[in-house]
Amino acid sequence: MTEFRIAIVGFGKIARDQHVGAIAATPGAMLAAVASRNASLPGLPHFATIEELLEKGPDIDAVSLCTPPQVRRAQAAAALAAGKHVMLEKPPGMGVAELDPLVAMAADAKRTLFATWHSRHAPAVEPAREWLAARRIKAVHINWKEDVRVWHPGQAWIWEPGGLGVFDPGINALSILTRILPKPVFVTAAELAFPANCQSPIAANLTLTDIDGLPVTAEFDFRQTGPQSWDIVAETDQGRMTLSRGGRIMEVDGKIVAEAPDHEYRELYRHFVKLAATGARDVDLAPLRLVADAFLLGKRNIVEPFVD
Ligand code: NAP
Repeated sequence: MTEFRIAIVGFGKIARDQHVGAIAATPGAMLAAVASRNASLPGLPHFATIEELLEKGPDIDAVSLCTPPQVRRAQAAAALAAGKHVMLEKPPGMGVAELDPLVAMAADAKRTLFATWHSRHAPAVEPAREWLAARRIKAVHINWKEDVRVWHPGQAWIWEPGGLGVFDPGINALSILTRILPKPVFVTAAELAFPANCQSPIAANLTLTDIDGLPVTAEFDFRQTGPQSWDIVAETDQGRMTLSRGGRIMEVDGKIVAEAPDHEYRELYRHFVKLAATGARDVDLAPLRLVADAFLLGKRNIVEPFVD
């Protein structure tokens, strides 16, 4: 079997922490090159930019874009124009509409465009979806609070326009929410806290609902110190379901019913290889649309400046 040759573009925290190991663990896939301005991996061909990679690099089938969202559209377009399959880190773009031409380009070229949502592959997410499908949901609350200095040290792009601020992790919660609920949800109100020196919010409270009026609330905060929270709680007619640790553990009324090791990124690459076998697309923009609506509807409060 010919190996599926992947180049990583943007060799930062997530590329190192997850992508390299996940590609190595994916049958039929191999890491063939790295394109990053300042970082490389010993033993692998290295290029400063995606343009250089596509022009002078080894034969590759696909690129995995691990750069910040503000630069990914142009990189994806260049890769698709060169006939490569494209995997996008989350969020898929810095805006919603910029994905449309990429989807069209990929369809024309019969190449895969895969907008990943790694949190949807957390081990307790599917058990939670199935459990909720058989019950009447009365209310949902998301509590997603982490210390930005621990998880995003020095990532200036997060605070720039298009960097999403606290929605960078918050969109992971929304990706799970939009997977486990039986009906689409939409934002009805939002309150966003912007540091005086930043272009994106450090905290956000959202109110959402669905066509039946399900009450859904979300609290996102980057200023958390001490214990970190990545929890979704659903009250139902048959008990309280808690999805904690970013979708790794599911409890019903305090009793663990699903827990497994995390293989989120291996699942992403397994799916990418499968999609690319037929050139299929997988681009679900639902979580990004909720974030965009939070920006559209959100009341803005200015809070103290953020210093990394
Ligand atoms: P990061 O550590 O800042 O890495 C991104 C890399 O992209 C940088 O190291 C940089 O490498 C390159 N880059 C930055 N600005 C660029 C520009 N203007 N043009 C071209 N390349 C640029 O960020 P990250 O945490 O890995 O996050 C990247 C993406 O993965 C984000 O969308 C994030 O939401 C997602 N993600 C992150 C995590 C996490 O835990 N960190 C988890 C899941 C998903 P060079 O300087 O070498 O070019």
